[in-house]
Amino acid sequence: MLRHARRARPRPVPFVVLLVLAALAISAAILVTVLWAPMQSLAFAPGERDGAVDERHPISLSATHLPAISRLDDDLFDALRRAEADAAADGIRFDITSGWRSREYQQWLLDERIEEWGSEELAREYVATPEGSHHVTGDAVDIAPLDAQIWLIDHGARYGLCQTYANERWHFELATEPGGTCPEMLPDAAG
Ligand SMILES: [Zn+2]
Repeated sequence: MLRHARRARPRPVPFVVLLVLAALAISAAILVTVLWAPMQSLAFAPGERDGAVDERHPISLSATHLPAISRLDDDLFDALRRAEADAAADGIRFDITSGWRSREYQQWLLDERIEEWGSEELAREYVATPEGSHHVTGDAVDIAPLDAQIWLIDHGARYGLCQTYANERWHFELATEPGGTCPEMLPDAAG
């Protein structure tokens, strides 16, 4: 009986254990508070798998191992290939500065521009939302250098390729039938 009574009595948790638990809880709270902001900004860094292209090292349409090229719409890609071959005969080279982009990359580009310019309205004139961007669906490419842009503005419609935003002479989409007429340009990516 005496043994049973002794067993039933709850053993008190040693004070030192409570102290350690409290210290751990406080440390965890401090760590989360201190590291939250850096963790948020480190959450996304665009890479090749997002279609990111280094501006200083544009790629060619032949870089089909990169998602920026391989995830372009097939018809857009074929039209660009045909245009590229004819442009080459005129001594013009197509550099691709951006092709397909992941949604995360597009959002990151928009966020970066808003932070840089301090205005969402201004940023939206040049960077579409992930929902609105034709890069995200693989239906747009950005072309460089200037002579390639001018060549495509002059001859792109032969292949169905059109500049679609008045403020982006580098941005082309398949927007008409080959040999057709390009639709009127939108003023900007926000329009
Ligand atoms: Zn573009």
